[in-house]
Amino acid sequence: MDRLFPFLDLGKVNEPYIEALSEAAVRVVKSGRYIGGEEVESFERELGNYLGAPYIIGVSNGLDALRLTLRAWVVTGRLTVGDEVIVPANTYVASVLAISDAGLVPVLADPDEMSMNITAEGIKRHLSAKTRAVMPVHLYGRVAWDRDIRDVVEDNGLLVLEDCAQAIGARSVWQGLHGGVMAGALGHAGALSFYPTKNTGALGDAGAVVTHDAELAATVRALANYGADRRYHNIYQGFNCRLDPLQAAMLRVKLPFTDRENADRFEKALAYWRTIDRKDVIKPLMSAAVTDCVWHQYVIRVTDGRRDEFQKKLAELGVETDIHYAVPPHMQPCYRDKPHLPLPVTERIAGELLSLPIARGTTVDDVVEISRIINSIEL
Ligand SMILES: *Cc1c(COP(=O)(O)O)cnc(C)c1O
Repeated sequence: MDRLFPFLDLGKVNEPYIEALSEAAVRVVKSGRYIGGEEVESFERELGNYLGAPYIIGVSNGLDALRLTLRAWVVTGRLTVGDEVIVPANTYVASVLAISDAGLVPVLADPDEMSMNITAEGIKRHLSAKTRAVMPVHLYGRVAWDRDIRDVVEDNGLLVLEDCAQAIGARSVWQGLHGGVMAGALGHAGALSFYPTKNTGALGDAGAVVTHDAELAATVRALANYGADRRYHNIYQGFNCRLDPLQAAMLRVKLPFTDRENADRFEKALAYWRTIDRKDVIKPLMSAAVTDCVWHQYVIRVTDGRRDEFQKKLAELGVETDIHYAVPPHMQPCYRDKPHLPLPVTERIAGELLSLPIARGTTVDDVVEISRIINSIEL
């Protein structure tokens, strides 16, 4: 083995920001304000400016951003317990957990095999008299939004909650419901995660809700703060899901570089796309619109049932990979007994997916070398 290609080195990801992060941390320590306050408010304003949305609520993590939004729609009567929410079956389990947590019913839809995202067709196939909402997940950083999805949503009066955990900074080719194009500001609400491995990661857990809806924003903010609309006045049976000022300060350092970091990922996706050349490997789509995917993961598919063997050979040759996700939500013990329609695409691709190194720490030269190793593997 010549050298090691780690899948992800978070120390390397944050290396360019060490000084600014350290200064921001000291600023918070000295401020004496450790819950809420100016740091959180400034971050919310800066994120709103970036996404072009009027309301941002900083929260504790991405799952909480999703579940607080759905819960807010339930407590305000926009959704009723038992309503169905259509969600792609190949998503990370958190998308589905948020739906169940709010007392709603997740309806799992097979994704499009090439984009690996939900489509208007997929949504239409799963519409029922109880369908009230859809959760497009911009999986691996690729925007799941187009004119057909917009039509099916508007024709059926569905609420749209985008799961943008993997897609900060992605831009849709098609305008959203409010005219903007940024992922998170396309539907009625968006949920962001700043988990450390995401494209713009905090130094711990963090998340945010994005919306154009003032009532939703106020409800989410109250729910995240014990259900209180003001001090010691609890209008809901709420939670404690606030964003820490320390994480807000870290994110204020990194947010301005989101586009730069995403462009760095794009260069590597392009290098993989140009260099990987194997009949048994399907590469992800490289669309004409450069910014509709922010390449949270670069996920190839190894066909012919050889993925595990392929991954093992790569590891022996020094290339660390990962799988997002080997076991889809409906096959997890907590959902195994729940009914769902057949999900042939989700179940097949779960055995084919393989994520290659793409974060900072992996260079374009590394990508070319990794691709050569991939091309040389004999199974
Ligand atoms: C990471 C992730 C989440 C959850 O975010 P956390 O901040 O880890 O709670 C939800 N959905 C998707 C698609 C994710 O990738």
